[in-house]
Amino acid sequence: MFSRRPASRAATTIHHQLCRRNLVAGVHRDSLSSRLFPSSRRSQWLALPRSMAPQTRSAGGAAPAEPEREDQGMVLPPVPSADDRSTDPEVWDMVIVGAGVAGSAFAYQQGCSGRRVLLLERELSQPDRIVGELLQPGGYLLLKRLGLAHCCDGIDAQKVHGYCMFKEGREAKVAYPLEGHGEDVAGRSFHHGRFVQNLRQAAATQPTVTVRQGYVRRLVNDEGGEWEEGQAVTGVCYKGSDGADHVAHAHLTVVCDGMYSGFRKKLSVPDMHQPSFFIGLLLKDCPLPYSNYGHVILGKPSPVLFYPISSTEARCLVDYPGEKLPSVSSGELERYLLDTVAPQIPSTLRPAFELAVKHGRIRCMQNKQVTSQPLHPAGALMLGDAFNMRHPLTGGGMTVAFSDTNLLCDMLRPLPTFDNKLATRDATSSFYVRRKPLSATINTLANALYKVFCASDSRAHEEMRQACFDYLALGGMYSTGPVSLLSGLNPRPSVLVMHFFMVALYGFGRLLRPRPTLRGVWLGVLLIYSAACIILPIIWKEGIRAVFFPSLAPQPRLTSAQRLAAAAKQA
Ligand SMILES: Cc1cc2nc3c(=O)[nH]c(=O)nc-3n(C[C@H](O)[C@H](O)[C@H](O)COP(=O)(O)OP(=O)(O)OC[C@H]3O[C@@H](n4cnc5c(N)ncnc54)[C@H](O)[C@@H]3O)c2cc1C
Repeated sequence: MFSRRPASRAATTIHHQLCRRNLVAGVHRDSLSSRLFPSSRRSQWLALPRSMAPQTRSAGGAAPAEPEREDQGMVLPPVPSADDRSTDPEVWDMVIVGAGVAGSAFAYQQGCSGRRVLLLERELSQPDRIVGELLQPGGYLLLKRLGLAHCCDGIDAQKVHGYCMFKEGREAKVAYPLEGHGEDVAGRSFHHGRFVQNLRQAAATQPTVTVRQGYVRRLVNDEGGEWEEGQAVTGVCYKGSDGADHVAHAHLTVVCDGMYSGFRKKLSVPDMHQPSFFIGLLLKDCPLPYSNYGHVILGKPSPVLFYPISSTEARCLVDYPGEKLPSVSSGELERYLLDTVAPQIPSTLRPAFELAVKHGRIRCMQNKQVTSQPLHPAGALMLGDAFNMRHPLTGGGMTVAFSDTNLLCDMLRPLPTFDNKLATRDATSSFYVRRKPLSATINTLANALYKVFCASDSRAHEEMRQACFDYLALGGMYSTGPVSLLSGLNPRPSVLVMHFFMVALYGFGRLLRPRPTLRGVWLGVLLIYSAACIILPIIWKEGIRAVFFPSLAPQPRLTSAQRLAAAAKQA
C-alpha cells in the first residue's frame, strides 16, 4: 500500500498528482486494460508504464504498490470459481457473460427455475467502482420480486427516502412517494462492490448455477467458429483461470458485459453519446445536511451529487461536462474542484469536500448514453448496460437492469427447455419492445434532466432550469409526479411528458408576471421551444411507437433466409 503521508509538502504534491494521474488514466483505460489483462488481478496500475506509477518500497523489497481499495471497511471474499469442468454438461441451458448487477440477478433467477447455467465473470473478487451505488425504491421492489432483497443486508446499506436539491442558497426537499408500499421499501445506497458480491454469492448458492472466472473472448456458432451475423449463437469461447481457451456451448447466451461491452457492436446497432464525466470523491465521517437523502446541487456548469453509501461515508459525484477531463498531472482537475466546484457546495459539506479533494482518492468515470437496435439473433440476448445506458444523474441503471431481468425471466419461464432456438427466440421476440415503457421513461428522464440541470448561456434555458427547481419546490403533485418517475415507482412515459411540459408552461406563466410583455412572451416561447428541443430528440431515439404504443412497435426480426437456415440447423 502506498503511504498516505509522504514526508514533505513537495512529496505530497507529487504523490497526489501521480496518484490522480494514474487513477484517472486507469479509468480511461479500463476497457482496454480489461482486454489486455482479462482474468488476472487487473489493476489500474497495469494500464500505465511502470515509470509513471508511484512506487513504494516495503521494508524488505521493491514491489510496486497497487492503489488502495477505496472500500477499506468491508471486503467480501471472492466467489470461488468453479473451475472443474469434468461435470460440465455438453450443452448448458444458458451461458451468461458477466456477473455484474444484471448477470448475477438473472443467473440466480434462472437457477431458481432449475436451469443449468454457466455464469462467466472476468474478475470474481469484489469490484471497486464508483457506479451503481444508489438503488431507487422501484429498483428495490424489482430486486425483491427477484427474491434478492437480502443482498442489501449486512453491507451497511443506507435507506434513502428522497432528494434535496440546492440552488443558489435555496433548498427543495422532495420525498419518495412510498405510501402503500411495504415498510422496508425505500431507496438503498451502498458500496457497489459489496452489493454485487452479494448478488454473485446468491447466484452461486443455486445448485444448478456454475459461477466461473473466465474472460469471454467471442461468441461461437455451431461449428465452433466465431459467430457472424446471420448465424445462430451456440455459446462462447472464454479464457479460463488456467489461461487456456475453452468453448462452452449453450442453448441460450445472455450477454451482460456492462458499459464497456465487447459484444455491443456485434449484437446491436448502437448509438452512443458521452456527455460528461463523473468525478468521484469519498467523504468520511461527514453527516449530510439531510440524513438518508440524496443531495443534488444545481451548480455551474453542471450538477454535483452527494449521498450516503455507508453509516460513516458519503459519495460525492461531480459532473464534468464534455468529452475531455482537465489535466490531472498539471493539477488542473484539483484546481477545478477547489476553485469552481467547492464554492458552490453547501458550507457544512465544504470542509469535507476540500479534504477529500486534497487528500483522498479522486476517481473518474465517463458517463455514456447508449440506445441500440438489437439484432436478436437466434440463441442470444442482451441485458443491462451492454445495450442500453442513460446518464447516471438519476441513478436509474440498476432499476432498468432489474426490470429487464424480471421481464426476461417471465418470458422464459413457460419454456420447458431452450433447445429449440427459434421457439426461444419467438418467445422473447417482444423483449426489446416490452421493456420500453419503463426503460425509456427512466432513460428519457435521466438524459433530459441532465440537460436541464446543466447551466447554459441561453436565457431561455436558465429560465427552464429555474422553473424546474421551483416546480419541484412547490411540493404536492408537482414533486410527487416527477419523483415517482425518478424513483422507478411509477415510470409512465405519459406522466413524464406531462410533467416536462408542465414545467415549461409553469416557466412560461412566470414570465408573464406581473403583466405580460412582448419580451416575456418571446422568452416564454423560447423556453417551450428549448424544452421541446431537449425531450423530443431523446424520445425519438428511444422510438415513439415503442415508448407510447409498444404493441404497434416493430420487433427485431430474422430475415426469412436466416429463419430458414436456423430451421435447417435445428432439424
Ligand atoms: C458513474 C456511474 C454512476 C452510476 N450510478 C448509478 C446509481 O447510483 N444507481 C444506479 O441504479 N445505476 C447507476 N449507474 C448505472 C449502473 O452502474 C449500471 O446500470 C449497472 O451496473 C448495469 O449492470 P450490468 O450488469 O449491465 O453491468 P455491470 O454491473 O457493469 O456488470 C458487467 C460485468 O461483466 C463483466 N465482464 C465484462 N466483460 C466481460 C467478459 N468479456 N467476460 C466476462 N465478464 C465480463 C464485468 O467484469 C462486470 O462484472 C451508474 C453508472 C455510472 C457510469
